[in-house]
Amino acid sequence: MCVPGLLLKGFNLNISHAFENLCAGINRTNEEIRYLEKLTQPVSPANAIGRVSRMDAIGNKMINEQILTRAQTRKVQLETVLNKANTPEFGQYMYCGNAIPIDRILAIPETTLCMCCASR
Ligand SMILES: [Zn+2]
Repeated sequence: MCVPGLLLKGFNLNISHAFENLCAGINRTNEEIRYLEKLTQPVSPANAIGRVSRMDAIGNKMINEQILTRAQTRKVQLETVLNKANTPEFGQYMYCGNAIPIDRILAIPETTLCMCCASR
């Protein structure tokens, strides 16, 4: 049995704050994805890349592809939470149904599991 989160004071106020934070997180993630998609274009063999060698450019591209994959995963998670926005489940952990502390929602808006449920 999971330990419930702190009871939220001013629950409706916190929910609207959480919703705004969630939308801001989605906008930020979309911007990040657009930027990373530009950085992960194929590296042309003919391109002179200035002082950076072609191997460096390929290495950077691989790192940016990993960051892009993480951002795309986060976007899916954020949108999953957004789909619950007008339901009673918004602001609750997925399995145990306990209230998610507002500080945790603001820090990690895509969160769906408490530490207890995540460790099962
Ligand atoms: Zn839980």
